[in-house]
Amino acid sequence: MGKKIILTGDRPTGRLHIGHYVGSLRRRVELQNSGEFDKIFIMIADAQALTDNADNPEKVRQNIIEVALDYLAAGLDPEKSTLFIQSQVSELTELDFFYQNLVTVQRLQRNPTVKQEIQLRGFSDNDEENENKAGTPVGFFCYPISQAADITAFKATTVPVGEDQKPMIEQTREIVRKFNSTYGEVLVEPEILLPDNASCLRLPGTDGKAKMSKSLGNCIYLSDSEEEVKAKVKGMYTDPNHLQVSDPGTVEGNTVFTYLDAFCKPEHFEKFASCWVGKKVSFEFHSLDEVKDQYRKGGLGDMMVKNFLTAVLQDTLEPMRARRKEYEKNIPYVYEVLRKGSEEARAAAAETLADVKRAMRINYFDEGVLDELIKEQTEKYNQ
Ligand code: ATP
Ligand code: MG
Repeated sequence: MGKKIILTGDRPTGRLHIGHYVGSLRRRVELQNSGEFDKIFIMIADAQALTDNADNPEKVRQNIIEVALDYLAAGLDPEKSTLFIQSQVSELTELDFFYQNLVTVQRLQRNPTVKQEIQLRGFSDNDEENENKAGTPVGFFCYPISQAADITAFKATTVPVGEDQKPMIEQTREIVRKFNSTYGEVLVEPEILLPDNASCLRLPGTDGKAKMSKSLGNCIYLSDSEEEVKAKVKGMYTDPNHLQVSDPGTVEGNTVFTYLDAFCKPEHFEKFASCWVGKKVSFEFHSLDEVKDQYRKGGLGDMMVKNFLTAVLQDTLEPMRARRKEYEKNIPYVYEVLRKGSEEARAAAAETLADVKRAMRINYFDEGVLDELIKEQTEKYNQ
């Protein structure tokens, strides 16, 4: 049996939010603690973040520590997982360079996530006011190839990510197949591991937009204070037709319920039973299905549901907040974790790069290879 290896990561463009948590981070911690994996690599993708933040390297630099603190707060353990910074592993860019020859421009242009992200950032529209109207940076356009380098450098078998990453993993698999059939079996084809809960595939923003995203400013951050979480939940969109408490409400597409689907656990009903006790009406719920039924029937107000959601979120976030505070007091430790991790990641990537160069026969000066090469060329010229 081959080794089981995880590679995944995040762009240091801001603190991590609850979308990251349910989409990938929560799963990583579970997998880490399951003991089923031989190696776990968690990458802070600063080089990728620079592909659309080239003019703002300070933002990326500042957010490396923020992401690292969020990792540790969420329960990633440096004893079990290797946390590292992408730009410190220069082998990745070498792999990227070779893989670029295995992908066509047309293939990249079909990538739905990149298409969407180009649109979102306004790289393709000429609007006078648009600060990005100069166009799409080549590095940004090509980031799926760089991601293939990141994944394959560690011979990752499993990539736990949100749904938006599906086209990247597909692209990686294609590159692996192309490489292996051209140069020989060296690279490992990774599997995507999506959240099994449908509402976690792509958690919507607090504004009800399709994706909670740092770039859209519709996030609840893992490090938000109790008051911030409360205020953000209070301001969330629900069902626009649920005007009176007595009106029947819709649960589907109602972000408050999507968040409950993602975060609510059976024990929360007993723990937060008081949320359902009101001045005029009170309820006794034992499951989320019962809450949804009542909301659909009418009589259950948005405020009550929001108060319950706030309690559920606090329950999840409070332990992380507390752990983060502890690590914030020990910044040297956090950088030491990243330094050590980057060194370890570099050694692993260097092995793969050597395998790749050997397979491509561009390892001219390796032991034995040079002698062979000299013999071959000498014969050619002295026939
Ligand atoms: P940016 O706007 O800078 O791209 P982002 O918020 O999209 O930031 P990434 O660093 O690109 O975050 O994504 C990191 C990981 O989190 C990926 O695995 C991605 O699939 C997952 N993820 C991001 N946003 C969500 C979301 N709203 N729901 C579920 N998973 C998400
Ligand atoms: Mg993203």
